[in-house]
Amino acid sequence: MHKHLNENESEILSRIKGLILDLDGVLHVGPRPIEGLETFMNFTYRRSIRNVYVTNNSTMTPEALCERLSGFGIQASETQIITSATATARYLTEVFPERGEVFLVGEEGLYQAVKDAGFKIGDTSPVAVVVGMDRRIDYQKISAASTAILNGARFVACNVDSGAPKEGGIAPGAGSMVAAIQAVVQTPPVEIGKPEPRMFLEAVQRLALESEECAAVGDRLDIDIAAAHLADLPSILVLSGMTRPEMIEGSLYPPDLIYEDIVEMVNRWEISLGVPKL
Ligand SMILES: [Mg+2]
Repeated sequence: MHKHLNENESEILSRIKGLILDLDGVLHVGPRPIEGLETFMNFTYRRSIRNVYVTNNSTMTPEALCERLSGFGIQASETQIITSATATARYLTEVFPERGEVFLVGEEGLYQAVKDAGFKIGDTSPVAVVVGMDRRIDYQKISAASTAILNGARFVACNVDSGAPKEGGIAPGAGSMVAAIQAVVQTPPVEIGKPEPRMFLEAVQRLALESEECAAVGDRLDIDIAAAHLADLPSILVLSGMTRPEMIEGSLYPPDLIYEDIVEMVNRWEISLGVPKL
């Protein structure tokens, strides 16, 4: 039995030619792919839906993420991946076209992206201090980063994520590293990752589609759906990640559509496109 689609749902779904997909909570949950991921991927291939993968993760390179996705059965190319590290590197090239030295608090994904963009990594006279997830941050690094900012370097945050639950506790996000430095310098950073709209706007460019032909799919109201609102994109919330249904009511950024997961999404989408004739 097909559930009835309301006009708005069918209108939004049938217009979509490209998806801007969050990773964790949408395509996989931690180390496990979403059940039925293959159904979703097959649908996008069959219907020629273009996918771009957008993550606040700044620790992994697009190459490493491609490999990880491939382990889930998703064949993606590096050009389909936008991380808060690659978006930060792009931002730096816009603000510092002459390039220069950048002080980094971060991991491999961030080092690679900033180096690839033509910047020197160092602490002699940096034009910017970029802060992402850094599982080896220490007092010295906070001190050096803060000193550089107080000396005039631009303070840039890959993202300000608070963290995510992990087995037996919580994994602090990049926001905790940013907060440590912000407490010293007493000025806020420029924020690049979601919920800021920058990565989604880049995603629309990469898809080479109009905004209304795209939709952002995410599992977090305050990050993914908020960014979609700010980028003026249709938004789809899936309940396979961090959001429980009771969190939706009263949210500052209500999603346009809500599904249990991406499999329910494509089932509804098929209906909106009409059953193909045999
Ligand atoms: Mg997520």
